[in-house]
Amino acid sequence: MNDNATWGDPGAQAPPPQPQQPQPQPQPQPGFDPAQPPIDPTQQQAPGQSPIPHQPTTPDQFPPPQFEEPDGPAYIDTSSGKSDGLDKCPRCGSTEISLRTQTGMLTCHFCRYEWHEARIDEAFALNSPIGDLRGRVIGTGAGTISEDVSEVLTLRCGACGAEVVVNTGEAMQARCHWCRNTLSASEQLPNGAVPDGVLPFSVTRETAIENISAFVKSRKFFAHPAFVRGFEPTEVVGVYLPYLVVDANAHAELHGEAEIETGRRRVSRGDNDSVTLYDADVYDMSRSFDLLVDDLVLESSSERADMSMFRNTNNVINAIQPFDIDATVAYNANYLRGFTSEKRNLDVDGIMPRAADATLSIARVRAGEAAQAYDRGIRWYREELTVHGTRWVSVYLPVWLYSYYQPRGGAGQGLVHYVAVNGRTGETMGSVPIRQGRLIGISVAIGIVGTVLGGLASIFM
Ligand SMILES: [Zn+2]
Ligand SMILES: [Zn+2]
Repeated sequence: MNDNATWGDPGAQAPPPQPQQPQPQPQPQPGFDPAQPPIDPTQQQAPGQSPIPHQPTTPDQFPPPQFEEPDGPAYIDTSSGKSDGLDKCPRCGSTEISLRTQTGMLTCHFCRYEWHEARIDEAFALNSPIGDLRGRVIGTGAGTISEDVSEVLTLRCGACGAEVVVNTGEAMQARCHWCRNTLSASEQLPNGAVPDGVLPFSVTRETAIENISAFVKSRKFFAHPAFVRGFEPTEVVGVYLPYLVVDANAHAELHGEAEIETGRRRVSRGDNDSVTLYDADVYDMSRSFDLLVDDLVLESSSERADMSMFRNTNNVINAIQPFDIDATVAYNANYLRGFTSEKRNLDVDGIMPRAADATLSIARVRAGEAAQAYDRGIRWYREELTVHGTRWVSVYLPVWLYSYYQPRGGAGQGLVHYVAVNGRTGETMGSVPIRQGRLIGISVAIGIVGTVLGGLASIFM
């Protein structure tokens, strides 16, 4: 645990705070108002120079973004208190309960009572203002995973006292073989299997099958014949995928150069060649502002986060976002009945670098929005993020998945293709194995058209 980590590379030493400055820079006017046109050009370019004449450093020399986070962690207890393993119907006490997707409610199989768990922010007071966050606050379901905690959990049945084994690698529930109650893993275990919250499926299996069928049908022409022959959308599986959701109270400082174009002209360079030259005013630019990040969603399974292994899946899952994270409810294992789930295996520390990258991207966009007068853009060469506080919870998000394994080459060389449906919005995206011949045919035709148009364009230039 490193509570004063440098983001970007948790193990690295903090770089020197100053970038290299190969030439002295005139200072920008302090407190520059982006709405006002610049009045003090710091450097007028001579004609004939390249558009970006001075560069403080090469990209390789950029110091990595700095990130500091004080104190912590403090834990928020999100456990249900149901240590007897019985997640009962509040009306009749039965443990035969599952999610009714049509309503998003838990339904008792015995008395038909329907209810839902409280929203996670209300249940555990996670909705205090982000601007007040200090240090690191973590839900108990997002705590550090212990390598030595087994997936197999022994629960003592609260009804009859028998000891029942639940393999949390496969299911979060098991039936007591003596009294036939369903026992649920409801306490947060330090093995990553029990999250703080769950966003229940609200898109039905039937809708998912329709969406997947429509997606594949519209791509049938290009799809590999073996895929089309074997397409069986009823094999869709509902999966809860693990994510960490973070709120952050941060302060960003960005330093860079911004340019405003002041003129351009064509200059002949020999017989048939000419080049456009640009004049630009170049400004040193700094931006310093507070940044509140609400519900940044990050994959917490290393298989999903590893872009090289599961490239298709990751892009697919990213493409069906966003989820309505606000509707996440307190964890109850009965939401998982009939679905599969994937265990979280990344800790907050392991996800920090991605959280920092994402937060800096947001900061860059914000800073750019506040400086639109610079029509030739901004190059940021130093970025610092001071995080006053973060709040982390682990959640399960619902995805309907249709998968297809495409064998290629030797064993283990195949590609897994997925069509995924957002279990809340129905948004559908996927990857379908391609029939190479048809795709090459089409792209050759496009290439010829492109060449002809390109030829015309250069005649009229
Ligand atoms: Zn009941
Ligand atoms: Zn029992």
